[in-house]
Amino acid sequence: MKLKTDTLIGFIAVHLLAALALLPWYFSWTGVVLFAAGIYVFGVLGINIGFHRLLTHRAFSCPLWLEHTLALLGTCCMQFSPAFWVAVHRRHHHYADDEMDPHSPLKSFFWAHFGWLLVRPPDMKPAPMIDRYSRDLMRDPFYVMLESKKNWIKFTLASWMLFFIAGFAISLISGGSLLDAFQFGSSLFVWGGALRTVFVWHTTWAVNSVTHVWGYRSYNTPDDSRNNPIIGLLAGGEGWHNNHHADPTSARHGHKWWEFDLSWTTIQLLMLLGLATKVSLPSPNLAATYNARPVSEPDAL
Ligand SMILES: [Zn+2]
Ligand SMILES: [Zn+2]
Repeated sequence: MKLKTDTLIGFIAVHLLAALALLPWYFSWTGVVLFAAGIYVFGVLGINIGFHRLLTHRAFSCPLWLEHTLALLGTCCMQFSPAFWVAVHRRHHHYADDEMDPHSPLKSFFWAHFGWLLVRPPDMKPAPMIDRYSRDLMRDPFYVMLESKKNWIKFTLASWMLFFIAGFAISLISGGSLLDAFQFGSSLFVWGGALRTVFVWHTTWAVNSVTHVWGYRSYNTPDDSRNNPIIGLLAGGEGWHNNHHADPTSARHGHKWWEFDLSWTTIQLLMLLGLATKVSLPSPNLAATYNARPVSEPDAL
């Protein structure tokens, strides 16, 4: 299988840009705030709620303007276009931890976390994948536009540059020198763009890798999915992955009171605001469905 060198170079480049955050020259408190806020805005709202719970699983309904906004936030995470992300994830649920799973750690932990992104077998190419798994999205010209000519990548790059441009402009307007403006703009780009992207990458990837290896199982699902409290917290509720595989269309992934699910809390807020409707809740029969037999430990790696 041919290595996708462009993807590998891109990943290395963004990781190196993120590592600049270690240098004091790139530090600013505004950058740190944008880093933390960005994890929520782009990771939780964009990936977890937009790409995953809404577009992939249709766990709730919302106005089209909100759906498109969430999808655009997810797009800014450089994790594929919405249609392809959805296709890959639906295939994951369809074949979870089987041969056809795009990223099962049964091959290797590294493969599940990251390796699968570096190759593109013929049956994983975007066009056939979207045709097979996410044709519903392509009825909307918005997703067609993001897909065509890889426009989604342009949106991501533009969003990263906005951090630099905003910092540069704000510094100049407030009387800073050109060097001050360059430093402040770079700080917002490194912290709010690159480092935030790398953090969201690894927490999203950890759902594919860590939560199919380490954690506890509340439901005896046929896959190896686990509930992992660390990923549950770091990935805004996506780490309650065994719960999710047991009931994929539920908007709520944390089932026990202490399984804190920031994405679900946000969806509850959207419900209060009247922006989320037809919200799917965990089936009350889950335990009976899966745990007629004792909860099993699936095959070890
Ligand atoms: Zn999974
Ligand atoms: Zn899912």
